[in-house]
Amino acid sequence: MRATIVGGGVSGLTTAVAMREAGWDAHVVARELYDSTVSMVAAAVWTATMLEPHESTRRWALATRTRFASLSEDPASGVVPMRQRELDRCVPSRSWWETTPYVRRLGSDAVPAPYAGGFEIDGFGIEPPVYLRWLTTLLAKLGGTITVGEVDRLVDVEGDIVLNCSGLGAADLADDPTVHPIRGQVVAVTNPGIRDGVTDHSDAERAAYVYPRSEEVILGGTRQIGCTDLEPDPVITQRILTDSGQLDGRVAQLDVLDVRVGLRPGRPSVRVERDELADGRAVVHNYGHAGAGFLLSWGCAQDVVKLTNTLNGRFERW
Ligand SMILES: Cc1cc2nc3c(=O)[nH]c(=O)nc-3n(C[C@H](O)[C@H](O)[C@H](O)COP(=O)(O)OP(=O)(O)OC[C@H]3O[C@@H](n4cnc5c(N)ncnc54)[C@H](O)[C@@H]3O)c2cc1C
Repeated sequence: MRATIVGGGVSGLTTAVAMREAGWDAHVVARELYDSTVSMVAAAVWTATMLEPHESTRRWALATRTRFASLSEDPASGVVPMRQRELDRCVPSRSWWETTPYVRRLGSDAVPAPYAGGFEIDGFGIEPPVYLRWLTTLLAKLGGTITVGEVDRLVDVEGDIVLNCSGLGAADLADDPTVHPIRGQVVAVTNPGIRDGVTDHSDAERAAYVYPRSEEVILGGTRQIGCTDLEPDPVITQRILTDSGQLDGRVAQLDVLDVRVGLRPGRPSVRVERDELADGRAVVHNYGHAGAGFLLSWGCAQDVVKLTNTLNGRFERW
């Protein structure tokens, strides 16, 4: 059975690999290849997400964590274990993440002023240029192809089943008015030897963070809902440098290597759902991951595979 995945960002590539692993003849069609998507701009860490729907995102995040743990044993994958501290100016309320072994509440001696509390997270750091290339290579090894092309309507896409992983493009392709951009700006500086990440979670729009990679450190950030400006804003760059310098003094004086902007595919909740096209074929949607496309990627892809393999009810032709 042939499956066509619309979208070549982290959601589309992961879904295509998962479908191939499940025995489908899966191929990707995408307007932009991975290096021109928002996936390439992501800070890209695995952390304790609070995205809706909670029950599903928790399950997707944990499933993804399991896969990242095994991928991190392959240095070529661009996935590495990374401990993070998530600091807050108020004492954070109890999180259901604390019931997992990966998230621990920080004791008061581990919380620097001016913060009042926070969590320590056993997460992962993902380097998008390395990881997305690695995923593309894996897909090719498994027999999957990637075709560059614009899709106007999902019903025009060839295949026995269509998988919609088009990120912001889903606003038009799935006629979904709840999909919206969330602008993110980050600053890359040379890594002076930082290994752990740190975040200030006090302000939902600013979300200051310091996330190390092999060569650089990603400093963030912004969450500007509805803003589509892809030009770096120099005022925001200065604010990011100041905020992240307060989080980790080592980054305060470093030279800026690059400033990057991307539009996260926002939605009130992530959509992983099976539907029907006008011609009776099934479509499975996998979009709306906002700021969590990497950390939910394998869990969502697993659910997409399960939904494509459902043989009951009105989709019994599959
Ligand atoms: C600053 C910043 C920091 C972030 N940090 C993190 C983080 O720490 N952890 C995390 O998990 N996530 C993070 N994210 C979020 C993450 O980047 C996104 O959730 C994720 O990249 C979304 O991936 P996607 O594949 O769904 O969409 P995209 O990467 O946008 O890919 C969409 C694909 O669909 C294709 N497409 C769209 N419309 C059409 C069409 N009509 N025809 C054909 N193709 C089409 C596009 O060309 C593209 O290939 C961050 C994002 C930003 C901007």
